[in-house]
Amino acid sequence: MSCTDPLLLTETEEVRKRFSQMIDETLKAIFDSYSDNSAFSGIDPYELREKITSLGFLPEEGKGFEAVLEQTKKEILPHMLRTWSTKYMPHLHSPVLTETICSELIISCFNDSLDSWDQGPAATEMEESMVHGLLGLFGFDPEKGDGCFTSGGSQSNISAIIAARDWYCTQKFNWDVKLNGLPPEYNKLRVYTSEISHFSMDKASHILGMGYNAVRKIPVDSTCRIDLAAFERMLEEDVAAGLYPYCAVATFGSTDFGSIDDAAGMRKLCDRYGMHLHADAAYGSGLIMSQKYKGRIGAISMCDSITVDFHKMFLMPISCSAILVKDKELLKCFELHADYLNREEDEEDGYINLVGKSMQTTRRFDALKVFMAFQTRGASGYSEIIDKSVGNAAYMFEKISHNPAFIAPVEPKLSSVVFALDASDEVNKKVRRQLLSEGTVIGQTVKDGRVMLKFTLLNPNLEPAQIDEIIDRIETLGKQLS
Ligand SMILES: *Cc1c(COP(=O)(O)O)cnc(C)c1O
Repeated sequence: MSCTDPLLLTETEEVRKRFSQMIDETLKAIFDSYSDNSAFSGIDPYELREKITSLGFLPEEGKGFEAVLEQTKKEILPHMLRTWSTKYMPHLHSPVLTETICSELIISCFNDSLDSWDQGPAATEMEESMVHGLLGLFGFDPEKGDGCFTSGGSQSNISAIIAARDWYCTQKFNWDVKLNGLPPEYNKLRVYTSEISHFSMDKASHILGMGYNAVRKIPVDSTCRIDLAAFERMLEEDVAAGLYPYCAVATFGSTDFGSIDDAAGMRKLCDRYGMHLHADAAYGSGLIMSQKYKGRIGAISMCDSITVDFHKMFLMPISCSAILVKDKELLKCFELHADYLNREEDEEDGYINLVGKSMQTTRRFDALKVFMAFQTRGASGYSEIIDKSVGNAAYMFEKISHNPAFIAPVEPKLSSVVFALDASDEVNKKVRRQLLSEGTVIGQTVKDGRVMLKFTLLNPNLEPAQIDEIIDRIETLGKQLS
């Protein structure tokens, strides 16, 4: 039988009824796919691969929605990760606020695109309005600054590095990178960031033709923040060696430890050497919403650009991120006019075409999620969400640091806790694997050459009693697996 499902959402009553039914059935399939609070079915990768590949690729005849939903429900949904579970805490990978799931439905139904005004009128105006608000929230002048939503922190970071490089080459060498490509001095350009910063900086440097070696890794102190004296020494030595420091990146919330670099101290050095200062706040940007902890975000407004991820602490569906710049000229590095898309004459008449600020062309209306979540929760609701996760990390650290079975090297400033059983690396690894098979998912990393376990506590439903339970379980497993 060939498929009779409606092709598109139209205005007819028949299609509306059928589509509502499809949505109801989808929700039911989702709800039926889990019955307890575990985060994962525990299936092993070989078995899952077998299951998934046996589903096939492209049948000759369509099976229709019901049959496919049934198959999806049976073979796929049970082995998806349940991010809303309080037993899921390995990565900066968040559960999502219910209203933002509704935003996703709206985004997909209309499928507006943010390249040109005529592909997303409300989307374009809403993104501009949200960017305006965000600039103010992070202490930039909304009239002077600018910003753009991106696919994630990695893309926000590379956007900032491109802007910084182009700006620097204009200032320093009177060289237009957009027109001429990299300047002759390209292999002497250097960007500075901490040794524990996110790897997207290395990737960006490679993609931009300057390579990993152009990323200078500054040592961190015992609290995992950039050692400013070391940074100053590196700058002196590098300049003496004929290199060109063009950018520094302060991490606001390192991926493992949640540590926050001293941006005010870095600002002084960047000013001395004529460098751009970027804030990678992919993780820590959520702190700005907390009445209690917002002070920890420190001098973020002293930076020239900021990466904000909404799909981490802000609890929004992937993907949702933004790059904000203090001076709107910086984003001009992405401006380019095409006769078929963003004619200059339209822009003069008020039809803004956001493609001119973005690395992407076709782009999702992710700003709707920020709008709906901010309006739904308000400043006070968001503050409670962030306070809960930062508070949980403090609670967990307190517990662990008073238990001789564990070592916990760094006090958390955000919502992640890195620690280890005071046992061999092998035991720590085995404990994590065992927990995974029980449906509890925690992270693993390395600190000072030692395997560490990691909790990223983004879930506002997690209660201290559940934290006690998991600590006990790890301690027990540690003894059993030693
Ligand atoms: C997560 C993260 C990134 C990368 O962001 P994506 O959204 O995963 O691309 C960059 N920097 C830091 C500090 C992060 O925590």
